[in-house]
Amino acid sequence: MTDLESHLAPYAAHSAQSRGRVHAEPASSSRSEFQRDRDRVIHSTAFRRLEYKTQVFVNHEGDLFRTRLTHSLEVAQIARSIARNLRLNEDLVEAISLAHDLGHTPFGHAGQDALNACMKNHGGFEHNLQSLLVVDELEERYGGFNGLNLTFETREGILKHCSRVNAAALGELGRRFLEGTQPSLEAQLANLADEIAYNNHDIDDGLRSGLLTLEQMDEVPMWGRHRAEVMAAYPGINGRRLINETVRRMINTLIVDLIETTQRNIAAARPADIDAVRAAGPLVAFSPAVREEAQALKRFLFRHLYRHYLVMRMSAKAQRIISDLFEAFMADPRLLPPQYQAAHGGDAPRLIAHYIAGMTDRYAIREHRRMFAVGEQN
Ligand code: MG
Repeated sequence: MTDLESHLAPYAAHSAQSRGRVHAEPASSSRSEFQRDRDRVIHSTAFRRLEYKTQVFVNHEGDLFRTRLTHSLEVAQIARSIARNLRLNEDLVEAISLAHDLGHTPFGHAGQDALNACMKNHGGFEHNLQSLLVVDELEERYGGFNGLNLTFETREGILKHCSRVNAAALGELGRRFLEGTQPSLEAQLANLADEIAYNNHDIDDGLRSGLLTLEQMDEVPMWGRHRAEVMAAYPGINGRRLINETVRRMINTLIVDLIETTQRNIAAARPADIDAVRAAGPLVAFSPAVREEAQALKRFLFRHLYRHYLVMRMSAKAQRIISDLFEAFMADPRLLPPQYQAAHGGDAPRLIAHYIAGMTDRYAIREHRRMFAVGEQN
């Protein structure tokens, strides 16, 4: 096979140096190991469900808002652009980006918090760890093993954070959380591309929904700066064009800053290979000034969008749906679909959590109706 990765920097993740898959498989004749990982994610059931899962807005609230699927595609796009500039492995960042939210519950963070509360006495629920479980265990696509049997590097990138207790149970993959070492540059990059994507598309969706106003946005320095640039370049511009031009420039500023700062960090640390990357401090980073601006934007979104009373109302409904379903299944696991009753070694709370976490927003709403509304079909 032609060497598909000869253009990569020495400190990038190379397929040939991968720590491999849990179940050994022969190499592909046409694709690198990380290309295969990306392709497996795209063909997974959990990936298709992302289309009907919420980021901030519930799936039925409007057709133009981001879903977890479009969010994941935007993360992959941003991460790949940056990876190419840094000569990192684009296939690996794409695989991580597309998989990073596979474990999300329905109804975004409200759903995650509700399910975590339900699981409090049963080991808790953490969406990031759940993403790993989806690719390691829950997907049923292969005759010989559970899950997608992805490479160590893709799994390492999916697991962004982890409690010490969970890390200890994860062996090799959890070790960096106990030792305080870093993952690959590709993993570090996918993590920050996620942040660039959601900060910017939440502004866009917030304005589109009317929950945020342009007047409010002016208190965000990064927004004000770029909006002024747009107004100077296109006097009289307004509406969607003004918003899109401003958001576009903000994303570009963040990307360029991340590339330049990371290049400087790499030049200073001079990691010879991926092992040196893992032993160094975090190298993929924003400059302090841009980091501060991004923090201010985050704080703004938290106050004005994620805590907006209309978002809070939907969150309250979502929490009720999830805790109702969890309690009903716990009270009588025979109400679960048969394939869930037998699965996962009979740990009832965990398999109920898997069932609920796998639901899309609309499936959860429908399942709640089926379970609680008399007269509704079961
Ligand atoms: Mg994300």
